[in-house]
Amino acid sequence: MRSSSTRIPFPTTDTPTRCADDPALFAIEDIPDEKERVKALAQAKRACAGCPIATDCLKWALANKTLTQTGVWAATTVQQRGVLRKKLIRRHGPGWVAVIADADRLRQEREQAARVQPVSVREKAMARLEEERLTASPAPYEPWREPMTPARQAQNRRLLLAGLTTNAKAAA
Ligand code: SF4
Repeated sequence: MRSSSTRIPFPTTDTPTRCADDPALFAIEDIPDEKERVKALAQAKRACAGCPIATDCLKWALANKTLTQTGVWAATTVQQRGVLRKKLIRRHGPGWVAVIADADRLRQEREQAARVQPVSVREKAMARLEEERLTASPAPYEPWREPMTPARQAQNRRLLLAGLTTNAKAAA
């Protein structure tokens, strides 16, 4: 049976994110002046718009209500996240986090399966032939690489004696 995940992990990226570089920009509630707050909100939203993990960041922020009670996350304010959560509950029920997490996991599995190319029949046959060829032919003797063993010494002596005997017979 397929296991169900109830967690949406925080996304990661090799690209530095603006919220990591400049967290104060996203803490709009800390700005007392309303005009300045509106300006900062627009800036934070612009920063999120160019973020490569904005979609997954939004899912994480929605799934982690207690950790995102303030600030701008994925270009949304706390009020906007509240509205989005209600929509998700209406659509998927109270277990909507697990529904989204499962859908994400299935999508990742499909993408991974698509990346792994199946081995063709021809490639399998070629690999089998190569394996048979390698096991049928002994490895070539490479004296400059292989250590001299007593067995190899004895074989060399036998070859030398055989060669000397043959030469002696031929000369007689
Ligand atoms: S989308 Fe999320 S991770 Fe990206 S800058 Fe905005 S708050 Fe940070």
